[in-house]
Amino acid sequence: MAAAPETKTVHSPALTYFSMLSLLSLCPPFVILLWYTMVHADGSVVQTRNYLKQHGLQGFIDIWPRPTAIAWKIIFVYGAFEAALQLLLPGKRVEGPVSPTGNRPVYKANGMAAYFVTLVTYISLWWFEIFNPTVVYDHLGEIYSALIFGSLIFCVFLYIKGHVAPSSTDSGSSGNLIIDFYWGMELYPRIGKNFDIKVFTNCRFGMMSWAVLAVTYCIKQYELNGKVSDSMLVNTTLMLVYVTKFFWWEAGYWNTMDIAHDRAGFYICWGCLVWVPSVYTSPGMYLVNHPVNLGMQLALYILVAGILCIYINYDCDRQRQEFRRTNGKCKIWGKAPSKIEATYTTTSGETKTSLLLTAGWWGLARHFHYVPEILAAFFWTVPALFNHFLPYFYVVFLTILLFDRAKRDDDRCRSKYGKYWKLYCNKVPYKIIPGIY
Ligand code: NDP
Repeated sequence: MAAAPETKTVHSPALTYFSMLSLLSLCPPFVILLWYTMVHADGSVVQTRNYLKQHGLQGFIDIWPRPTAIAWKIIFVYGAFEAALQLLLPGKRVEGPVSPTGNRPVYKANGMAAYFVTLVTYISLWWFEIFNPTVVYDHLGEIYSALIFGSLIFCVFLYIKGHVAPSSTDSGSSGNLIIDFYWGMELYPRIGKNFDIKVFTNCRFGMMSWAVLAVTYCIKQYELNGKVSDSMLVNTTLMLVYVTKFFWWEAGYWNTMDIAHDRAGFYICWGCLVWVPSVYTSPGMYLVNHPVNLGMQLALYILVAGILCIYINYDCDRQRQEFRRTNGKCKIWGKAPSKIEATYTTTSGETKTSLLLTAGWWGLARHFHYVPEILAAFFWTVPALFNHFLPYFYVVFLTILLFDRAKRDDDRCRSKYGKYWKLYCNKVPYKIIPGIY
């Protein structure tokens, strides 16, 4: 079998085990507490804390919704619909990056079509009174509960599949059950030849649910108040612009760390199946019961600032991909870009070359694109104003995630490119924030 996932060695072994076990045990209850606080405790952490103080563990068990038949039905119909779109909608053939063992995965780029069909279908079902999306909001706790358990079972399936029937040579065991379960074993697991599991979990289930739930929250507020507040409109518009950008650029996403480096395990798959639909959508979940009125001018300022950040984040990714696609023969900010030609050796001993862009956004800092990503999240949260902390949890989480990711990526690139990465760090000394960090 191939080597163990590289990601596990970034931190010290003690810290690695501690964080893996903490996340495995704390994330599921956190999702339930987040939902409970947003929907039943006025978004107030203090209210939830007082409840738990008073009722203890039994109180927590009482608020944890049991997965109901309707919750399973909603998840199953949604999942099956998305899987069918992934398999059946037409799309251009796209090749992913060369994997560490020299494979090149092939995809069908039909994400934008699937996104369009999903939103049009969902809104039409509501418009023609065939299915009311408020049902989803009303059963959200049960849905999260079912997702938590269902996705854990799914990760066990991934673990077993990784051992007995890996889809490609990009698979391997670390020899440690917890690490294999947490980080995953296969880089590109598939069912059959064409159904890519990570495209399904990350894009078509996770990211798609973000847009579907954003629309759901809007419709729920409309049902409750007979109108949608401007704060909700700004939040929903920005989240939808972000998800639209994601699907517009989905083939580019298949070149990023999530797909090209992180294997299919609890970290990525459970995260996309449960954490994205709950935590990522949580600012909108909060606004359902907190219809803040911002006024036209403030709403517009926030909207424009948010769209600008999403655009800059998109442009950073676009620059890097355009640069790689054209082998450095493109214009960055109007001129031929400066670059480093970095050679590296694959696990099979082949020597290859990659180009590192040192101009444009990528000349400001090595992970500058995380700055507009975090700011965009701030702008779709700030319509909630500052009465409660919890709507900002996603922004705080994202900041920690991306700062950790910058470290993981730097460490990985340093071991891949050696002296060439050092050269890049000398030329572009800041990791994320130019002049500061
Ligand atoms: P990146 O797009 O930053 O890709 C990192 C990889 O790019 C490196 O591993 C390296 O891969 C290559 N690379 C690094 N430096 C250069 C350079 N100077 N020139 C050319 N190639 C380089 O990865 P991410 O996955 O972190 O980010 C992708 C997008 O996803 C971003 O927009 C990010 O904000 C977003 N994101 C959002 C998250 C969320 O939860 N909302 C979480 C994570 C990311 P190689 O081996 O090919 O050289």
